[in-house]
Amino acid sequence: MNLIQKHSLKSLNTLAIDSMADYFVDAVTIDDVRNALSYAKQHDLAVKVLGGGSNVVMADRISGLVLKYTASQYKLLSETNEAVTIEVDAGFEWHAFVLFCLNKGWFGLENLSYIPGTVGAAPVQNIGAYGVEVKDVIQRVHGVYLETGETFTLDADDCDFSYRESIFKQALNNQTLITSVEFKLSKQANVQVGYAPLNSMASEQGMPTPLQLSQWVVEVRQSKLPEPSKLPNAGSFFKNPVVSLEKFETIQQANPDIPNYPQSNSVKLPAGWLIDQLGLKGKSFGSVSVHDKQALVLVNHGGTCVDVEAAANEIKRQVKGEYGIELEQEPRVFS
Ligand code: FAD
Ligand code: NAP
Repeated sequence: MNLIQKHSLKSLNTLAIDSMADYFVDAVTIDDVRNALSYAKQHDLAVKVLGGGSNVVMADRISGLVLKYTASQYKLLSETNEAVTIEVDAGFEWHAFVLFCLNKGWFGLENLSYIPGTVGAAPVQNIGAYGVEVKDVIQRVHGVYLETGETFTLDADDCDFSYRESIFKQALNNQTLITSVEFKLSKQANVQVGYAPLNSMASEQGMPTPLQLSQWVVEVRQSKLPEPSKLPNAGSFFKNPVVSLEKFETIQQANPDIPNYPQSNSVKLPAGWLIDQLGLKGKSFGSVSVHDKQALVLVNHGGTCVDVEAAANEIKRQVKGEYGIELEQEPRVFS
């Protein structure tokens, strides 16, 4: 086990916050994980699990032991003419995994192309993009409980997946390290082009193959989302709010052109549009700015957790004041 004291996490979070972990372990094997957990127990250190750092707001100092599991192998568990089931280690980089599957002719992940981070974090917030959520292809999640080191397996039905949520952010919040995820992927292409940019590309160029669809998603994302290596960010900073029909009608009366996506008994509103309407696109709050191409993304220019949270709180305050909507932050404070 490679235990480091006083380890900088600046290059390990996509907001590039200058953060220092008291203890850090890069665990390559499950034995490393177990050793790190027993060390933490012996020394009374809280364990905090880090993946690719693309959905966290790092505090200046992280007390306790930051544990990053980097195993990145896969196992083919079963294969038929129609589908494969594979088990993938948590440390596999997400987009590399998507491309790996596309090259094998295993489909279902194309809409989730180019999302930063790791396979192990994908179930945590049930990553989603362009109408697909990772829960659609997850069969099981394997991991260890941080407190006891005991292993667990959860069927997808027991993971309480919902919009950007799962049991790993709720009942098991900060209690587990996911070590691998089982996916069932189809050998038949079933491309989903429901979202406007993909739909218009399909109208112009015809229905894509899964590989083309993945390339379209990368193209669209690169055109509006900042690259964290150049402009540090954590993707969408707020979830899209879902409001009651009644509340929606009131907001729509004052904003007749508001984009909206009806759900069963409610309406989803694009948080980026609400922020844009307040004239905040491109605006700076000290060292943190609202991205000029996508108002849902906050870009950090050397700020700390406090600076990022202050900017986020100011945006929340203004959205609440104008629309009466309480925005919910997506990336979680890592402290
Ligand atoms: P981290 O940020 O390291 O961790 C996130 C949370 O998961 C933390 O609470 C951490 O403790 C926990 N965690 C991480 N790994 C494990 C593990 N192995 N076991 C248990 N808990 C763990 N998200 C989307 O859903 N859709 C998008 O389209 C999308 N686009 C993005 C675009 C950009 C430019 C950026 C910067 C982010 C985007 N995100 C998106 C957010 C982010 O990439 C995802 O949530 C991703 O899954 C986070 O992975 P990570 O490995 O970086 O997790
Ligand atoms: P967009 O196309 O500008 O649309 C704005 C929002 O409207 C999206 O967030 C999406 O909600 C919703 N939307 C658009 N078309 C929809 C449809 N046909 N049905 C239902 N809802 C619809 O969004 P964007 O910012 O470029 O992002 C594109 C996709 O990538 C979205 O799915 C978004 O969630 C995902 N993304 C996520 C992150 C992140 O960090 N979480 C970062 C970048 C992109 P949904 O978010 O519910 O899909």
